[in-house]
Amino acid sequence: MRLKSHIIAGLVGAAATAPFWQNPYQVALFFTSSILIDADHYLDYIWRNRGKNWSPKRMFKYYDHVSENKYDQRKLGFSIMHTVEIFLLIYLLMLYVSFDFFLPVIAGMAYHIIFDVVSMTYDKIPFVRPFSIAEYHFRKKQMHLKGKSVDDFYKDMFDKSGE
Ligand SMILES: [Zn+2]
Repeated sequence: MRLKSHIIAGLVGAAATAPFWQNPYQVALFFTSSILIDADHYLDYIWRNRGKNWSPKRMFKYYDHVSENKYDQRKLGFSIMHTVEIFLLIYLLMLYVSFDFFLPVIAGMAYHIIFDVVSMTYDKIPFVRPFSIAEYHFRKKQMHLKGKSVDDFYKDMFDKSGE
């Protein structure tokens, strides 16, 4: 889902859950986490292009191409902050470091993911992005066996974004 929609959804979610938080800073954390989780797209962009380009401007062009080609058979999404491994890490931080701090963080992130899944389901590609790092590597290998190169797809999108 797009940034603007996430901001609107985040404001609605923060307002709706505000009475349940003990501290106003937790409302702000919930909202911020529900938006900032998507900052991983920048890391994913640099990782996909192997550090060749760091320009946020080109990144937006790149993602425009990726979404235009969302039905390409070689597409296999990946967003590090949207994986169960990261959720597990934050869950542990919540248990062992600060419950009050990390509860709104993980709640905001989970809230965000609901909207992503609804939006991908609407696009009829609910499973285009693996929910785990391990699942990503497994599926990527399976796709390679069938002659579908995930790396080629993202390289094509990167090349197009530079045109
Ligand atoms: Zn997202």
